[in-house]
This record gives sequence, C-alpha cells and structure tokens, in this order.
Amino acid sequence: MWLIKSKSKTWFVLVVFLLTFLNSLPLSAASVLAAWLITSEGVLKLRTSANANLNAYYQPGYKNIGDRLWIDFPGELIQPRKLKGNGPIKEIRLGKPFVGNTRLVVEFDQNVSLNPSDLKLLGKSPTLWELRLTGLNVFNLESFGEGDVTTKTSNLTLASSRNRFLNNRLNSNSLPNVETGRFKIIIDPGHGGPDTGAIGLRGVKETDIVLDISKKVSRYLSSKGVAVQLTRTKDIDLDLSERVIIANKSYANAFISIHANAVRGYRRDVSGIETYFYRGYNGKNLANKIQSELVKVPGGSPDRGVRQSRFFVIKHTHMPAALVEVGFLTGRVDSRLLSQQTYRDQIAFAIAKGILKYLKETY
Ligand SMILES: [Zn+2]
Repeated sequence: MWLIKSKSKTWFVLVVFLLTFLNSLPLSAASVLAAWLITSEGVLKLRTSANANLNAYYQPGYKNIGDRLWIDFPGELIQPRKLKGNGPIKEIRLGKPFVGNTRLVVEFDQNVSLNPSDLKLLGKSPTLWELRLTGLNVFNLESFGEGDVTTKTSNLTLASSRNRFLNNRLNSNSLPNVETGRFKIIIDPGHGGPDTGAIGLRGVKETDIVLDISKKVSRYLSSKGVAVQLTRTKDIDLDLSERVIIANKSYANAFISIHANAVRGYRRDVSGIETYFYRGYNGKNLANKIQSELVKVPGGSPDRGVRQSRFFVIKHTHMPAALVEVGFLTGRVDSRLLSQQTYRDQIAFAIAKGILKYLKETY
C-alpha cells in the first residue's frame, strides 16, 4: 500500500501501476473496466481485467463545478454515458476521452470538498480496486453502480502480497514559481475537427494527442498562477488565421502551438522531439527552454533539436512564439509513448516547465 500525499489546491496526479512496466494495449482493445460501484459508505469499487494499468486524478472544484475525481482505464468503452448521482455525488460519467481509453468521472456536489491527500486507489486483488472517499458526508448516499464488482476467485491475502505500487506523481509544486497573476500564455492545440492532423500507427490522431497534452499543459500553468487561454478546447475546426487572431488579441506573454509529427512513407524508425521558433531572441529562447525540458522526459524519444521555420502560427503571432512537435505518430518509439496517458502527462509537465523557466528568466 502506498500512501500518496499532496498539497491541496494544486493539481496532482496519482498514478498507480499494478505492474512494474508500462504496457500499452492495442488501441482498439475493449475497456478493462468490467464493473463499478459506489457504496453507501462512500467507497468506490472497481473490477477490471487482471493486472490493468490505471491512472487516477483529482481536481478541486472551481466556479460552479464541484470537485472531480477520475480514473482512466486502458481499452475503449463501447457506450459513453452519464448517470445521475445521489447525495454528495452529482454525476457519474463514463467516457472515451481518447482513442483506446475509458474514463470514469465522479463529479461531486459543489459543497463537497475532498482532501486529495486522503485519496488512495488501492489494488485489493489483481482485478479489484478500492478508493475510499474519506471525508464525504454519506448521510444521504445510496449505493449505486453498474455490473458486479465481486468475483468468486479473489483471494485477498494472496492478492495484497502481489500489489506493487509505483508512484509516478508529477507534482506542480516542483515547477518553477513565477509571480501569480502576472502572466498570460496562449496554448494552441494543432488541428481539430475535420482536420485530424497526422494519423499515426494504430490510427492515433494528432488532433486528439495534442488537445490532451495542451489541456494538461494548461492545468500545470494554471496551478502556478499563470493565465492560460487555449485556442480550442474541443475537437473543432479552427483555421490558422483564427488562431493568430485569438493570440494577437490576447496580449499574452507567449504563444505555444502543440503538434505531433508524421513522416511520409510511414518510416517507423523515425521518432523524436523538435521545437520551432520563427524570430527573435525571445522566441528562440522560449523554444530552447521547452525543448531542453522535453528531451529530459524518460522514454527514449530522440532530441531533434530547436529549429527555425516559417510555420504560419509562429510567423504571424506578435508575441514570442514556439511550435512543439512532441513526437512522430508514425514512429515506433513515439507512437507507443504518446499512446500512454502517463507519458503525455510527462510531456505536458515538461512543456509547462520550459514555459515557466522562460518567464522567470525573461521578466
Ligand atoms: Zn500538426
């Protein structure tokens, strides 16, 4: 059992692996989630296929949205759905946030405030998981769920000795501090809508990968008091000049466009990370800072360096601008890495870190 502690109010990610290696299932595989239950005592129980690799996340509520907790499972859900909660639980959503993934979201009522350091997703057996929602007022909570979370074969004594937890939490406390409320950044997830961008191995789409990474970058920056505007937050069509208009109206300190690469002829041997700038000392410095953080992410994607290019969005935006290519979706190494939620999180963390270092040095 691994106790995961975190300072509240900041983003935290708790990542639990039942195996000591990261495995990526074929993207078309069925969801490993077999059943879920929230008991009237406030315990979330899950049944999955054996030795699944789950990621659990928590986000404190803001504005009129309550606290949220979600768990990502490998494998794709057939039927995304929403279920009305009861008592302190507002809604349960089962979604497909990403090709090849299943996400179970628990949204709490606005008056619920969970302590993230109390949240632990524990493997009780190779197929059973529990997360106790400590501090939840369960006074009027009735148990609800889907499927049967009990299995005939579970042997808790045997199972608990097989649990091996690896805590891979990326803590925004370890990101550089900048003056809160002073900076604004535009994050531009490339492509969207009918323009899927590159299509990689196993059908991975650039638009999905870069939107996911962009949102994660945005969360990390926001947690450090940096205002972030995304040019798109959904899978919508947005042309390049619209992106530039959004950026130039924003008076942001920097613009970062996020893309993933592809190579003609589907050469699987080509992988690597590159960051582009178009002009100026600041643009180049921004690109350098981001690239040098990105190449530190473990996984083995090669460093293809910082390059100069006339990409439309970095050429026409007025502020220092960089365009990141997080990897080749057509590459054997990168496509495997980028299909993993934990890797995308590390990439996002690195981009956020590079941006914060740039702000710190420049202002
Ligand atoms: Zn692109």
